[in-house]
Amino acid sequence: MDSIRVFLRLKPCDDERQCVEVTGPSSVRFLTRSAEEPQRFTFDAVGGPECRQEDVWEAVGRELTDECLRGYNATIFAYGQTGSGKTYTMQGDVDSHDFGMIPRCFEYLYAELAKRSGEWKTSIRCTFVEIYNETVYDLLAADDADMETARTVREQRNGAVYVEGAREEALGSASDALRVFLRGSQNRHVAETRMNRESSRSHSIFTLFLHSTRHGAVEETRQSRFNLVDLAGSERQQATGTVGVRLKEAGNINRSLLALSNVISALSETGLSAKHVHYRDSKLTFLLRESLGGNARTVIIACVSPALACHGETLSTLRFAQRAKLIQNRPVVNQEMHGSVADLQAEIRRLQDLLDAVPQATVNGAVQQQEQV
Ligand code: ADP
Ligand code: MG
Repeated sequence: MDSIRVFLRLKPCDDERQCVEVTGPSSVRFLTRSAEEPQRFTFDAVGGPECRQEDVWEAVGRELTDECLRGYNATIFAYGQTGSGKTYTMQGDVDSHDFGMIPRCFEYLYAELAKRSGEWKTSIRCTFVEIYNETVYDLLAADDADMETARTVREQRNGAVYVEGAREEALGSASDALRVFLRGSQNRHVAETRMNRESSRSHSIFTLFLHSTRHGAVEETRQSRFNLVDLAGSERQQATGTVGVRLKEAGNINRSLLALSNVISALSETGLSAKHVHYRDSKLTFLLRESLGGNARTVIIACVSPALACHGETLSTLRFAQRAKLIQNRPVVNQEMHGSVADLQAEIRRLQDLLDAVPQATVNGAVQQQEQV
């Protein structure tokens, strides 16, 4: 069992008076306007306004990328109102080499793969989709017509959920991966201007699929998915003065984030009785079902602005993030072994011999260490 972890990131702000104050490495104080007691919030970690991209990577990204390499599914959500730093956190300012989580993940992933290439052979593919107005689009589509095609979310017999027909790209290197990712990001902007999809209102989901094999006496395979999600702005959509398509859109954005919020509430209240969790209420929660109370390690990076003007939205993000921390996931290594019964028995004997050769104290130490992870 593994709780969803929450990293709170505060955007730099020049205002003299602010609505959030960092009070420790994992705590903040929300200052109300009235004379009421300030509200305190505790997360797994807090990055203040001076927190650098590298710090967020070290606190969140490196560990999750390692987990993926070990065969666990992982997901990072960036949550917060428009302008709070979600895209900055996930992508960064690539032109000025101020890289966010995703480019850093590529660099690290391929450096690690090079280190273990003698033992494991790994192939990496990706998809990049956008959910806009409760419709899924492929950001890696070949042309405009393809990019306007609504995609269907389907469930495989083994329970895995995927976007049908979404283009999968094979990624050979970190620079390859970055190129593909930036092409998808660029398409998000193209869709914004040409197809009138406002990007602050869309969720973008970049997914890496890792497939590793190791040949020894038996063949081992590990598979994992890494979802890197830049959510739509969490601000309440103003329905007043909005008509027609935009009004429907506002409703649908609320629907996805509302469904996310409901799923999180249900999971935090009922623990693991996932039967009553309404994943199918939105495309977002259905597609990311495994990351919410399922087989995945999940981190939410909650982005807030400490500016007084953002006071209401900042409080609502803090509350959302607080609830999300209560969810328990059940990650398992997605590993299989293939070989004859004799091969597998030989492998068990080999592992048993290795274990017998290790002094008992070390074994206990290793076990304890593992439990802390
Ligand atoms: P969002 O994706 O949540 O709408 P952005 O990531 O686009 O917000 O951030 C809005 C603006 O604020 C951008 O110009 C971005 O560069 C800047 N920004 C956000 N967070 C930070 C930060 N931690 N440090 C410096 N600049 C930031
Ligand atoms: Mg953004």
